[in-house]
Amino acid sequence: MINKVITKGEFEKFISGIIDANETIGPKQVDTDRDGKPVYQFRQVKSFGEMDLDYTITYSSVKNFFLPFREELSRFDFSEKDWDQTVEYRVNPRAIIGVRPCDINALNILDKVLIGGAYPSPYYLARRRNTFLVGMDHEPLEDCFCESLGQDTVHRGFNLFCEDIGDKYYLTIMSSKAFRFLENVKVTDPTKEDDIKFHERRKRLRDMFKTKVEMTGLQSVMDIEFKSPVWKKWGDKCLNCGSCAMVCPTCYCYGIEENIDVGLKSSRKERVQYSCNLVDFAEVAGGHNFRPLKEDRLKYRYYHHYRGFAQNGDEPICVGCNRCGRACLAGINPKDVINELQLES
Ligand code: SF4
Ligand code: SF4
Repeated sequence: MINKVITKGEFEKFISGIIDANETIGPKQVDTDRDGKPVYQFRQVKSFGEMDLDYTITYSSVKNFFLPFREELSRFDFSEKDWDQTVEYRVNPRAIIGVRPCDINALNILDKVLIGGAYPSPYYLARRRNTFLVGMDHEPLEDCFCESLGQDTVHRGFNLFCEDIGDKYYLTIMSSKAFRFLENVKVTDPTKEDDIKFHERRKRLRDMFKTKVEMTGLQSVMDIEFKSPVWKKWGDKCLNCGSCAMVCPTCYCYGIEENIDVGLKSSRKERVQYSCNLVDFAEVAGGHNFRPLKEDRLKYRYYHHYRGFAQNGDEPICVGCNRCGRACLAGINPKDVINELQLES
């Protein structure tokens, strides 16, 4: 890891060079909501000016560029007596600019499952390896609670990270590729004054968090509160729409679909994102559903995120972005559910 500083003018030159040479994805305003506030999403960009690096939050995270909503796993072509299978996971080198610390931490969690797990995904690995990731700090929104989970800063999983210290960015360089790319622009070693500004910026951002979620002892609390009325209270409100999982940067559950063409000449095997809140998620052949009640399904999602994964993966599978809370039409969000559960014990 090496620290440098770059003026914002040079930074624009640096990013423009990346955009000119690679497929580049960045935060863009795509619409306005009913209150007239901008709606942002990560989209392919052709120039620096198309991006809004001061964006508040994107509705979906960058997860979908690594784990698409729907992706082809293999293709089969049938002839009279034979058949061919095609499997492709080649990805052209690309860059993603302006990713927030919590979203990079979410990718680090997905890495544990999809690269370090028992069944690594070559599709995910190819996308992760071929993506140059530029992270960027930001002022938290009122309902962000990543600080409660220690996910408001990030220490790995990116090539370059930029912290805004006024007219310059304080850079953390984490890969030789980033170091080489930066040779084309003017960067300097941080001065004492830059270091002070960097620490002041970090402290100011940390002091801005308004939403706190009590994570202390949560695993034990969940063991004790398995039958808590909190699950029924929030489960009864759930619409089983699955939106929470679709926008969540760490949810990775999926289903497999086999689509055969009407002429029986070819077929496609596809992976499609799924949600444990959907009614048929735990339904098996014969029609038995292991989680027939809404409260069971909601509870399962919370136990996977904050209990089971926390034990097996050393940390909760949640980075506190509150995308699920914002997307939920029933008003269900981790802050209220967890804090109520803590009060029960
Ligand atoms: S806050 Fe919600 S959307 Fe964000 S990581 Fe946690 S569970 Fe997923
Ligand atoms: S978004 Fe809300 S209503 Fe929809 S499944 Fe998730 S918790 Fe239930």
